[in-house]
Amino acid sequence: MDQIIIENLEIFGYHGVFEEEAFLGQKFIVDARLYLDTRPAGQTDDLTQSLDYGEVCQFIKKLVETERYMLIEKIAEEIASGLLLTYDLLQKVEITVKKPWAPVRVHLDTVAVRIERGWHTVYLSIGSNMGDKEGYLDFAIDRLNALPDTKVTEVSDYIETEPYGDVEQDNFLNGALKIQTLKSPEELLDTTMAIEQEAHRERIVHWGPRTLDLDLLFYDDQILGTKRLIVPHPEIEKRSFVLVPMAQIAPWLRHPVSKSTIKQLLEELNAEQ
Ligand code: ADP
Ligand code: MG
Repeated sequence: MDQIIIENLEIFGYHGVFEEEAFLGQKFIVDARLYLDTRPAGQTDDLTQSLDYGEVCQFIKKLVETERYMLIEKIAEEIASGLLLTYDLLQKVEITVKKPWAPVRVHLDTVAVRIERGWHTVYLSIGSNMGDKEGYLDFAIDRLNALPDTKVTEVSDYIETEPYGDVEQDNFLNGALKIQTLKSPEELLDTTMAIEQEAHRERIVHWGPRTLDLDLLFYDDQILGTKRLIVPHPEIEKRSFVLVPMAQIAPWLRHPVSKSTIKQLLEELNAEQ
């Protein structure tokens, strides 16, 4: 992807864990690599089609000058999320924060933290089989959209499906969502679990049926398997209540493990049943 590069932006700031650093201040140096499509600006020669790097420098300068943090990790994180949330054209940023005068009682050229942050495309499944089912699915979307670092960009129809497994329970209402988020997979799981909790709190819940279930289906084309999180979700291929709404919003998306499209997975499942 195209990049706009800012190197060695010098800013005087008051960050650090020592009292003296807050009092005396010191020099910080920031590099920023901004990933965006520069072609529209390249073709039109129009600044409004691109990112004004002068403005970006002022944004970074103001943040480093006015805030006071303990760690350069925190400065880098704040610059990255601040830029990504402010400038719509930005897909990804690489931020380096250098601290050449770090008081560590040895001679060195500089110490630095470099991070890479960006927007991620994620698909979620949403389901409910208790109470106001449609209301709970709408609630999940509203809660996701209320997060500053996440936006819901596509919503499938809500489809009614028979419950899965042996437990005797009401039919489900299911849907699929496409979102853009700055959250990591684990952070997103924490968030979806908190939203489920919020929905559960509204009624007394019996075991089995649930007011709201939110699952992570795909996170970019990442493949993850930790204690808490399996991505892509391991049951996608077996569940028509996931594949039918997914086929509405992302029929050509490829499963990163099997490489099959959603459309193919749905056709294979239909053929089996
Ligand atoms: P299910 O969604 O299978 O009906 P639960 O929502 O009750 O069941 O279980 C969620 C648990 O599954 C969570 O504790 C979570 O750690 C784990 N989990 C593993 N992979 C995923 C995923 N991709 N999305 C959501 N939860 C997951
Ligand atoms: Mg779940």
